[in-house]
Amino acid sequence: MSEIELLPCPFCGAHAKTPIRNNGMYGRPRWETGCVLFCISMLAGSKKELVQRWNTRPALAAKEAELAKAWEAGRKLNDFLIDHPECVVDIPDEIYVPFVEALK
Ligand SMILES: [Zn+2]
Repeated sequence: MSEIELLPCPFCGAHAKTPIRNNGMYGRPRWETGCVLFCISMLAGSKKELVQRWNTRPALAAKEAELAKAWEAGRKLNDFLIDHPECVVDIPDEIYVPFVEALK
């Protein structure tokens, strides 16, 4: 069996527990993981669902989208300067402003 990669605890950064299967309530098997320091635990009906839910981080997705936007703004600035080396001190606002905004 391949090693499952679980992200660290979203609250304290400690490791996640190795997923375990338990009998759950009413005999419905459940899979469980959580922070090794007990910040939070999570249940799901299958190991695959548990790993997917544990590793889904809306804040992380938002940060990745922010980084992609910054990367795109930087790439546009770079492309512009390659095409217009004479404009280093006179970069158009539509290129420069998104780049500066992305750095904030
Ligand atoms: Zn924790």
